[in-house]
Amino acid sequence: MRWQQILHEKKGWAGPTWPAEFGGPGWSATQRWIFNEECARAGAPGLIPLGTRMLAPVLFRYGTKAQQDHYLPRMLSGEHYWCQGYSEPGSGSDLSSLRTQAVREGDEYVVNGAKIWQTHGHFADHIFCLVRTRPDGKPQAGISFLLIDMATPGITVDPIVTLAGDHEVNAVFFENVRVPVENRVGPEHEGWTVAKYLLEFERGGGGSSVGLRLQLDSLRRIAGRETEDGRRLLDDPAFAARVHAAEIRVQAFEFSELKTLARLAEGDSPGPESSLAKNTGVDLQQELNTLLLEAVGWYGVPHHNLLRLTDNNAPTVGPEDYEPVNGRYLNSRAASIFGGSREVQKNIIAKAVLGL
Ligand SMILES: Cc1cc2nc3c(=O)[nH]c(=O)nc-3n(C[C@H](O)[C@H](O)[C@H](O)COP(=O)(O)OP(=O)(O)OC[C@H]3O[C@@H](n4cnc5c(N)ncnc54)[C@H](O)[C@@H]3O)c2cc1C
Repeated sequence: MRWQQILHEKKGWAGPTWPAEFGGPGWSATQRWIFNEECARAGAPGLIPLGTRMLAPVLFRYGTKAQQDHYLPRMLSGEHYWCQGYSEPGSGSDLSSLRTQAVREGDEYVVNGAKIWQTHGHFADHIFCLVRTRPDGKPQAGISFLLIDMATPGITVDPIVTLAGDHEVNAVFFENVRVPVENRVGPEHEGWTVAKYLLEFERGGGGSSVGLRLQLDSLRRIAGRETEDGRRLLDDPAFAARVHAAEIRVQAFEFSELKTLARLAEGDSPGPESSLAKNTGVDLQQELNTLLLEAVGWYGVPHHNLLRLTDNNAPTVGPEDYEPVNGRYLNSRAASIFGGSREVQKNIIAKAVLGL
């Protein structure tokens, strides 16, 4: 968030995808690509996507003037930190079955229910939430989209510690939480359209081949340093073949990203092909993390994040760049689940891209 504030205050670059009329730099798709690439190359911290990349376009299109004036500047400056309240314990891929209820009482909704997997929910002071405002009829037709202040009485946030040992996601509970009707985005019961529009920005063209290239660089560095029976791991034909195969796929992925970029530059939207890009990018990320973990070998064990969590501040064992390998490997397992699972993306590809 400090990085976001620096970009905002010094350059007005905190929302690289924002049009100028809402306070963004008004960059073209190509300029945004260059910005992302330069930031990744420089090792700059990533920008938190939940507010500026995901909710912002929804407010540009569906927000009232009052919502735009209130929320957008505070999102850019980092004063507000958003999390996403879509998934529920019984509703993930089948999101339209969600049951968190919002009952209208005068000019307020009273919200009751449970959400799960809220990324950064423990840092957030605001949550955008899908709630059921009409219990009967077609499930998609009774959902509304609400903006909720996390300080409202009746909200609790419980931590979920993941396989990687980090506290990134949470469960959020609502008990008689009163939300002003003016905090609804879009018409009542028609939040499904708003929700789907937001998902286009969650899945779509963030551009990740530059990140994969950086992972490849560190793989080459580590595999060029590690030896077995006096031979560099990178010179082991079987291991080297896997590194080369991954590199070829990263290059192909980069070319298809550039193709998408060219289309965006001509005014097209990412479209259902973004599901293809998501699956390919995630497969490669997981493959490179697997190769990295194999390359560091036993050094991956003492760096397990769970050991770090137990107040262990012992100096690192082995080179410092081995430290994050195990945690990243474990954390990246989730990438084929969040933002729509691998199988769900395949269903979209089958229907919308291949026309099956
Ligand atoms: C690290 C992480 C962060 C997340 N952050 C957020 C967040 O900030 N906000 C939020 O709202 N949610 C968040 N999620 C939730 C995420 O969107 C869901 O986990 C995801 O949509 C899958 O839903 P589910 O976990 O209920 O699994 P399920 O939908 O129960 O799926 C279980 C399995 O069945 C498969 N499956 C389901 N339906 C089909 C089908 N039709 N065809 C074929 N296979 C199918 C799935 O691919 C999966 O393998 C996060 C999840 C993770 C892991």
